[in-house]
Amino acid sequence: MQKFIGMGARLSVAGILVAAITGGGANSASAQTEAGATMPASPTPAAVATIKRIESSPAFAKAMAAIDSGHDKWVADIITLTEIPAPPYKETARAQAYRDMFIARGLTDVEIDAVGNVTGLRKGGGEGLIIVSAHLDTVFPEGTPVKVRREGDKLFAPGVGDDSTGLATQLAFINAMSAADIRTKADILFVGTVGEEGRGDLRGVRHLFTKGKYQGRAKAFFSIDGGGMDSLTIGGAGSKRYRVTFKGPGGHSFGAFGLVNPMTAMSQAVVDLYKVTVPTDPKTTYSASVVGGGTSVNAIPGEVWMEFDMRSATAEELAKVEQRFLAILNDAAATENVARSTRDGRITVQPVLVGDRPAGSTPLSADIVQFSTAAYAAEGIKLRYSSSSTDSNIPISLGIPAITISRVATGGRNHSLEEWIGIEKANNVKLKRIGLATILATAGM
Ligand SMILES: [Zn+2]
Repeated sequence: MQKFIGMGARLSVAGILVAAITGGGANSASAQTEAGATMPASPTPAAVATIKRIESSPAFAKAMAAIDSGHDKWVADIITLTEIPAPPYKETARAQAYRDMFIARGLTDVEIDAVGNVTGLRKGGGEGLIIVSAHLDTVFPEGTPVKVRREGDKLFAPGVGDDSTGLATQLAFINAMSAADIRTKADILFVGTVGEEGRGDLRGVRHLFTKGKYQGRAKAFFSIDGGGMDSLTIGGAGSKRYRVTFKGPGGHSFGAFGLVNPMTAMSQAVVDLYKVTVPTDPKTTYSASVVGGGTSVNAIPGEVWMEFDMRSATAEELAKVEQRFLAILNDAAATENVARSTRDGRITVQPVLVGDRPAGSTPLSADIVQFSTAAYAAEGIKLRYSSSSTDSNIPISLGIPAITISRVATGGRNHSLEEWIGIEKANNVKLKRIGLATILATAGM
């Protein structure tokens, strides 16, 4: 897998829908989430009371004072982390720096686990464990320039938002809790995960929940990944990703003219796939993303390949689009075998599943969703709930309440070289207030 990614230093756009704040107007203040599910959000009285109790406590005020005065440090941490490249499967340098940041902020049991996740514990009263995380990896291949450019209240750089800002926000939370000497009922495990993006296929969080030493212990999970002032990711959009190889006999472009061509079959497959209609609710999508093959301009290729991404908020719709996809691939190969000569061999097609993320959703009734909704309501913000593909997919698929919270108030162009975030203070502090209150309510305080 690593070889695939490194080989062509290609920037896959397969993951382009992962993050919540892409696209839209450059100054768009709201999150552009990928699944439009907007539901009425009225928190339960119990959740409202809990958030109110926490937010009116002296300790919380002290924590927020630390976040307020630590705003510039948050910005500096974002820049530091962004400028340490973390290409897929090559997160080690950033992981080591992040481990040191955990140690400097007083977490215990700080380590880099078997797959490369950075974990650090903030001991509480031992009443269970909750996990707060952000991801270390970016979508950008080795060699991508990562120097951060600042223009007024904006930072520009590939990966500056996704998810360096999540990592830095996590540090701000740790600082704030320590500054206020907050002792939560549950222990909190802070994590920088590897492999959230693209071909990483959630391998970091998967390890955390299915193999690592904290396996089976977490009762709730937060991923700090996404953006905007009014949206909360409670659903894990499922995805299936394929690398599909079409093979044929190949031959001289002039001398062997008339032979079947795998590129023709693959092109036909893409055209036919883009005729497939998918529901908008539950949001279901597909994307032909990365392509390669052929050897010479004067040769009929012997082999071409593409990567294809499919997503849906429900497992059922995902399975439907996947079945259509597989059928279309076979039809396209068969059509080419009829259209041209198979004298020297036939077109074959081999789809290989390279990514499989489960779909699912944390119920609205879950405490974690209720606390978050109440924390937004306390700021006068009516939440929109959405689905996305994030580290939360794994705990959600295991029945563990999980949400993905916003790391920044404004931002855009995620997964592109023009990625940017807004670092103005007021809304970003407000967002941390909402996030911290939700985490403390979930951990118990
Ligand atoms: Zn992300």
